[in-house]
Amino acid sequence: MNPPAIAIDGPAASGKSTVAKLIAKELGYTFINTGAMYRAVTWYLLRRDVDTADTAAVCAALPGIPLSFGKDGSVSCVVFEGRVLTDELRTPEVNANVSTVAAIPQVRALLVEKQREYNTREAVVMEGRDIGTVVFPDTPFKYFVTASEEVRAARRAAEGITESITERDRKDSQRSVSPLVQAPDALLVDTSDMSIEQVVALVVADIRKKLA
Ligand code: C5P
Repeated sequence: MNPPAIAIDGPAASGKSTVAKLIAKELGYTFINTGAMYRAVTWYLLRRDVDTADTAAVCAALPGIPLSFGKDGSVSCVVFEGRVLTDELRTPEVNANVSTVAAIPQVRALLVEKQREYNTREAVVMEGRDIGTVVFPDTPFKYFVTASEEVRAARRAAEGITESITERDRKDSQRSVSPLVQAPDALLVDTSDMSIEQVVALVVADIRKKLA
């Protein structure tokens, strides 16, 4: 049996990354940011001038893609030519293309396999869009973290990011493979009127109850 896998899903800017990181810290588990994995593939394709809307071209570029999915301490990271990718994963170009790339089944198959690999060795808190529905459908620890559209837009603006998250959420929710959807057995956490500390406390309490 694999170690525990905590699945945290939700739309963009719902606060799931922040809370997932803190939950992992509190439990001593590894934090896995799967969005960064989709972003890294997108970044690499753009760098190679691959048209992300051309599925055949994207699939042709996938075998042997020179990205490695590892860990930096207790946090996942993506390494390219010996360097951990960070700011380059958050550019407007990556934001604008990542949902198109993430809708391609072959991209998802490649990354889901890497995501599951992390959990064969260690307990993880994994954050994304399809973790509770596709990556770990059997885990009893599923949380769907969301907030109202206004609150999410305000949070992004406060970070100085002007991206239209509505469009990315629409694409992520409407794609035919692994769409962003709440798993029927996930606990819904609406963070609109909650502090980060409250969200973390609520989720950690639920996990500890289930572990006991
Ligand atoms: O979480 P983040 O906003 O960084 O994710 C970037 C994009 O990666 C999402 O908008 C989505 O298109 C894709 N993604 C996904 N499945 C995941 C995580 C991210 O499709 N598990």
